[in-house]
Parts: sequence; structure tokens; C-alpha cells
Amino acid sequence: MADQNRTDSRINALIARLDGLDGADADDLRAEIDWLIGRYRRLDRNLNKISRMSDRLQAEIMQLNDKLRAASITDPLTGLMNRRGAHDALQMETKAAQAGDSKGFCLALIDIDFFKAVNDTHGHDVGDEVLVNFSARLLGSMRETDLIARWGGEEFLILMREASLADAMALLEGFHEALRSRPVKTAIGPLTVTASSGLCQYHSNDHGYDSTVYRADHALYAAKEAGRDQWLLADDPKCD
Ligand code: GH3
Ligand code: MG
Ligand code: MG
Repeated sequence: MADQNRTDSRINALIARLDGLDGADADDLRAEIDWLIGRYRRLDRNLNKISRMSDRLQAEIMQLNDKLRAASITDPLTGLMNRRGAHDALQMETKAAQAGDSKGFCLALIDIDFFKAVNDTHGHDVGDEVLVNFSARLLGSMRETDLIARWGGEEFLILMREASLADAMALLEGFHEALRSRPVKTAIGPLTVTASSGLCQYHSNDHGYDSTVYRADHALYAAKEAGRDQWLLADDPKCD
């Protein structure tokens, strides 16, 4: 805008100087200057338009980047965070715990029991419905600060931030109990679904979160072996 004002005043000064001149040459010069002024103003308007478009495009690119980032860490079926997102969150949480910035966390891996039979008996679409409703049930059972991710096909990871082991055990028991007593809704009617889980607490001697996940996975496997429809703590002797 300041540039525009400066240019306008120079043009006006030029016109004022021309006003003092007579003759055909002066008229030609005046016409030429008028034409140049018109052209300059059109170019200036275009430049402003391009600059506004560029600002808008930049804002759209930033929004698109945010959406892409969100999509890359979201599971499309359940809307939960996917495994990649869970890895990022686990890394951040482990760093915070190692730096002493948090009280640590508990981690549960939950796997639906005999899920293949749901697909085989009722079809893949009903299987999908069970996954969606199971996810909603998990969200309803955990605290707002807990992160729930779809870790694999019918396996889910829960990162319970700043949770004591007693809190985590109560949350997990509550979820299993609710699942047992209230069937999952599907288009073909309610289906009773059970799950098995492995629970563990982050230890400062865990080398990164891999070992925490490994211990939870080991406990999950032991829960399956012990007959399913239950959760086991990683340090439980039953896991050995
Ligand atoms: P277990 O109690 O030992 O966990 O038995 P399971 O039948 O639950 O486990 P298994 O690993 O044998 O089968 C898991 C099935 O989950 C197989 C796979 O087709 C199904 N599955 C994985 N992802 C999806 C999905 O997105 N939708 C549906 N409908 N099925 C899925
Ligand atoms: Mg399973
Ligand atoms: Mg599984």
C-alpha cells in the first residue's frame, strides 16, 4: 500500500510537470502516461489477487497436511488411532517417563476371543460391526486420558497414562466384566463377545517401549492359554 501511494504521487508529480507543457508532443506524452498508469494499476490489482490466492493456497496446504497426518494415524474402520499412531504415542510416553516428566504408564493388549468364528458364522460385515462396537465399548470404559488404538486385526492397545497398576487393573476388570454381561449390538442382533488381555506397567529398566509391549503381549498369550475371557498381569507367575 505504501508502495502504491509513493508511485501514485510520483505519477501525479509527472502529470503536474506535463501540464506546464504545450503542443502535440505533450499530448502524446500525456496519452502515453495515461496508458501506462492504466496498465500499472491493472498489473498491481493482479499482483494483489495472486498474493491473496497464494496465501489461501498456503493455508489450504497446511490444512491438507494436518488432515493427511490425522489420516495416516487413524484406523478407517473404527476411527481409533492405528498402530503407527500408537507407536508415536508410546515413544513420547516412554521418553516422558524416562525423563521423570510423568509417573509412567500402564499398557494393555486386548484381543477378541474366537473372532474368526464370528466372521465364519455371520460374515465379514458383522465381524466389522463387532470391531466398531467393541471399539466404542473400549472408549466408554477407559478414562479420557487413556489412548486406545487398533493394534492389529482384532487386537487393541490401551495406553493408560499416569495410571497406577491398581487403577489399570480396575479399568481392565471393569471392561471385561461389562463385555461379559452386555452383548455387542449388531445388525443380526446382540452377540456375546469375550476378550483376553495382557496388562503390564512400564518399568524404568524397560529398554524403550518394545519391551513393555513384549511383556503385555506375553501376558495376553498366557491369558489365551489359560482359557480366554480373562486378563493377566505380566508379572503373574501364570505368565511364565
Ligand atoms: P483367538 O481367540 O486365539 O484370538 O482366536 P481368533 O479367532 O480371534 O484369532 P485368529 O487370529 O485365528 O483370527 C482373527 C481373525 O480376525 C482373522 C481375520 O480374518 C479377522 N480380521 C482381521 N481384521 C479384520 C477386519 O478388519 N474385519 C473383519 N471382519 N475381520 C478381521
Ligand atoms: Mg482373537
Ligand atoms: Mg489376534
